[in-house]
Amino acid sequence: MEIKYVSTTCPYCGTGCGFNLVVRDGKVFDVAHWQRAPVNGGKLCPKGRYAHEFINSPDRLTKPLIKKDGGFVEATWDEAYDLIAEKIGSYKPDEVACLSSARTSNEENYLMQKFARVVLKTPHIDHCARLCHASTVAGLAAVFGSGAMTNSITDIAESKCVFVLGSNTFEQHPLIARSIIRAREGGGKVIVADPRLTPTAKQADLYMPFISGTDVAILNGLMQEIIRNGREDKEFIASRTKDFENLKEVVMKDDYSLENVSKTSGIPVESLRTAAEWIATADVATLIYSMGITQHTVGVDNVKSTANLMMLTGNMGRPGGGVNPLRGQNNVQGACDMGALPNVFSGYQKVTDEAAQKKMKEMWGVDELAEGRVGYTVTEMVNVLADESGKLKAMYIMGENPMLSDPDLHHVEEGLKNLEFLVVQDIFLTETGNFADVVLPAACYAEKDGTQTNTERRVQRWKKAQDPPGEAKEDWKIICELGSKMGYPEQFAFESPEAIFNEVAAVTPSYHGMSYARLDPDGLHWPCPTEEHPGTPILHRERFAMPDGLGVFSPIEWKPPAEVPDAEYPYVLTTGRTLWQWHTGTMTRRSWSLEKEAPIGWIEINPEDAKELGIEDEEVVRASTRRGSVEIPARVTPEIIKGVMFIPFHYKEHPANRLTHNALDPVAKIPEYKACAVKVEKITEE
Ligand code: SF4
Repeated sequence: MEIKYVSTTCPYCGTGCGFNLVVRDGKVFDVAHWQRAPVNGGKLCPKGRYAHEFINSPDRLTKPLIKKDGGFVEATWDEAYDLIAEKIGSYKPDEVACLSSARTSNEENYLMQKFARVVLKTPHIDHCARLCHASTVAGLAAVFGSGAMTNSITDIAESKCVFVLGSNTFEQHPLIARSIIRAREGGGKVIVADPRLTPTAKQADLYMPFISGTDVAILNGLMQEIIRNGREDKEFIASRTKDFENLKEVVMKDDYSLENVSKTSGIPVESLRTAAEWIATADVATLIYSMGITQHTVGVDNVKSTANLMMLTGNMGRPGGGVNPLRGQNNVQGACDMGALPNVFSGYQKVTDEAAQKKMKEMWGVDELAEGRVGYTVTEMVNVLADESGKLKAMYIMGENPMLSDPDLHHVEEGLKNLEFLVVQDIFLTETGNFADVVLPAACYAEKDGTQTNTERRVQRWKKAQDPPGEAKEDWKIICELGSKMGYPEQFAFESPEAIFNEVAAVTPSYHGMSYARLDPDGLHWPCPTEEHPGTPILHRERFAMPDGLGVFSPIEWKPPAEVPDAEYPYVLTTGRTLWQWHTGTMTRRSWSLEKEAPIGWIEINPEDAKELGIEDEEVVRASTRRGSVEIPARVTPEIIKGVMFIPFHYKEHPANRLTHNALDPVAKIPEYKACAVKVEKITEE
């Protein structure tokens, strides 16, 4: 019996913890702590601890499948590739779209966007960052010139005031929560604003429950209070920023007095006043946010407002400070960095920029690329499919499951049914895979080499621990074989992920100085522009990444969510995640240690609302919105503010996204998962 330990990076959240996969006779059978792991020092949350359990599930896809007469039949790789090449190759570039995956490696995301742009010549390439942090990328880039977490995870521990807004860090990024605890141990104050009394909120020195969708009003109110008390950082504002007067004009309006913000948000005046004082007077303060901020029709406005607050108080470019969006999936930062987005190549080089196009054509050895225009986002793809039938005819989806993750699932289903040809590449047959014409079996994180980039911009290695099951292959290998088959053998002649990474480093300025040798064992934070550069854990120390080096204040007015409660749908519905499950559950629901802790969905209802509705705890109720209905057990709890209800979105049996709607942020095209109008009823026997 041979036992070996292979150090790699967790496949779940964007924290990027390292652990050892324990391999016996060629098969992974456990996870063991890797004490010198750079992000987590050997500690793991339950998802990471049990990240081996789904790897050898009997449900893994092991052979290509082709749909015949409404059912799937096993096929050879050649049969599957021939069919894909013939069908996808027959459409015009504008009729085909690709979805890349934040669960796959940097190398694979890079190849997927290259495949879309070089082989299919389509501009329509996107991935699920659209559903979580597209507003971060757009909002922070507009303010700072760079759309990513500004400080590192360990740096949060240096803070003297941690303001957590719209992030349940203790459940969703537990190993980042350790830094919050350390900040507190070092004398820092913790403020948490959330409609739910989450495990994160329970750790706060000041907890501010608020009505979902009122973030800008709260942030403007805090800024008004700080300015009224003369506590803004005048020196920082003068030397490092511009357009402060424009900001002031808006935030000093009567609408944003503490009294009015209290009425809008439900937060007591005294709490707002205390929060403003703590943020402004701390030696250094940091703001942490996640999807509570981004998943709104005003997601970009929300993000810009967080940046306004931290520039106003001079907390940028300093240890213990910054604006720190916590990215969701393990490699969502990397998938964005690699250009799996409709508007940029890798390193955020704009597709509309002629110099960038020329550079890519030369590097890729082609005369022609996808037109230099911005393609459809994920959400636009679904809208086009459902509402403009025939415009988009074929899709290639790698490692995404829109039939559970996207808003308004009825709409998504209509769209997928309108496709003439769908390829889904995944490790399990998902809800989306059921709609496919061809399913390609992929290797999981434990079965390949590669890199991923965590939320703090740290690029880290994955290392192969076992072979993929049956005939499953690494995503990078599949894309290379398909690209070669479709006429581009030279462009996809990679022998290894390392060879792909070397091309990434060559064309991506922020990755220029990276190589596999340099990434072992601690990784490197981008930007890392040269081979001697140590990486950049803290951004914007001397100047912002703008041509003039200045951060830009953005005056933002508060706007209510696209759908607000009314007589028919009188409550606000918000959605989110649990500690024990991950996204659409493809991996965690096949991990028995996790699944047994949280096997079914629920709707959280405040006791006062439950009493008015005559609903008991654990009673199965019907939750309905204008999009559909779900029958789901009630969890009656004072841990959610009156008037707001919450459903986790992991469960296909109780799909929260049957209820959510697809109203989009006009800039980032992110849907408003965090607020729509819902009604809840008792289910009575007919
Ligand atoms: Fe994995 Fe995130 Fe848990 Fe770390 S905190 S072990 S990266 S799920």
